[in-house]
Amino acid sequence: MNAGRTIEPTHRYRNNDKSVGIGNAFWDLSEENGLAGIVAELDDGVLRTGEGHTFVNFSCCSYLDLDSHPRVIEGAVEALRRYGVLDHCIPRSRVQIPALLELEHSLGELFSADVVSAISASAASAGLLPLIASGHVGDGERPLMIFDKNCHVSMAQTKPVCADETEVVTCRHHDLDFIEARCKEYSRVWYVCDGSDSLGGYAPVAELAALQDRYGLQVYYDDSHSLSAFGPRGVGYVRSVAPAANDRTVVVATLNKAFGTSGAAVLLDGHPKRTLRVIERFAGAMSYSQPLNTAAVGAGLASAEIHRSEELPALQKRLQEKIALFDAHVETAQSGSTFPIRLVPMDDEVVVEAGKRVFEAGFYVSPVFFPIVARGTAGLRVMMRAGQTDEQIRDLCSVLVEVGARPAPATRTEPGA
Ligand SMILES: *Cc1c(COP(=O)(O)O)cnc(C)c1O
Repeated sequence: MNAGRTIEPTHRYRNNDKSVGIGNAFWDLSEENGLAGIVAELDDGVLRTGEGHTFVNFSCCSYLDLDSHPRVIEGAVEALRRYGVLDHCIPRSRVQIPALLELEHSLGELFSADVVSAISASAASAGLLPLIASGHVGDGERPLMIFDKNCHVSMAQTKPVCADETEVVTCRHHDLDFIEARCKEYSRVWYVCDGSDSLGGYAPVAELAALQDRYGLQVYYDDSHSLSAFGPRGVGYVRSVAPAANDRTVVVATLNKAFGTSGAAVLLDGHPKRTLRVIERFAGAMSYSQPLNTAAVGAGLASAEIHRSEELPALQKRLQEKIALFDAHVETAQSGSTFPIRLVPMDDEVVVEAGKRVFEAGFYVSPVFFPIVARGTAGLRVMMRAGQTDEQIRDLCSVLVEVGARPAPATRTEPGA
């Protein structure tokens, strides 16, 4: 018989009762309606379920379709043959084959930064943010860490760990006044946010750069959604708006989305070699977990070559044309933005039924609704990719309008029309 003593959680930075309680109801309802838990084979850009239903994925973040690019696939196979091993299992700080160094060198040249690779953006943030909190990535002084309220869960989940090393606060979304006030108060301040938000919109990079110049503010950006899709050579939104060439800015970005491969890149400037060594040795999973396998490295090298070629701006242009084509037919709050994600607003009561009808018509879009998002902000999340055909986009838009999407004003015409 247990003594029966129970534990009261503090929930200062996280609350699983709330997250699972709210999130699971959402997932259960999605799955019951056939809009989650789908298994399908990919065949020439179209997905096919075991029951034979075919559909186009309008919820995939490989915005340039590089994930299935023949040269990326070939790069993975070729590197595996060339290195003759998938994962030579030992922390890289002790012994490593040259594969990762080759990739980091290539990405460093591509993005004009010191690049450290990680197995994922989540692993990079989980490892780096606590080192920033303790001042070990920095000049040794502990900073106040301000997390943006909307920052991605991969960063938000490090709050309790960072709070064990320094002071942590959460600010309202892009609250520049709050950040400036803290800069006047504390000698070191880091602000943690997304460079590009998953529901559209970009960080106020230029305004933050002004605070960085004025007060020495440091910013940790996760620019996962805009790497490759945005900027010269696909350097992403943050670095194309404010090319940072000093240690006041760190950008982490997944290679799993538009870059089309696997892993993540941390873009650093101006950090001494010994800081890079501290990252290699102490940044959580970046130090103790295994590095990217050689197939991922080979795919990354091939994708980097595509980024250096004329094909990249051509793919970026095609993506923008697909986005403009969608906007020419369906009106959303994001219409006119260069960001590839659109939220087609729907009432909570009808969004699942709408998602089902769109799926039956041959398109997968993600329904988001209460309780996963606030009441009144439900909708169907649509993601454009360079490889979608104009016909697929027009057909999707017709179905969306049938299920209640707002048609675009007649003044907005198709690109090139
Ligand atoms: C998708 C996404 C991630 C997850 O990236 P992984 O490399 O898969 O961990 C992290 N941050 C943001 C902002 C994302 O959009």
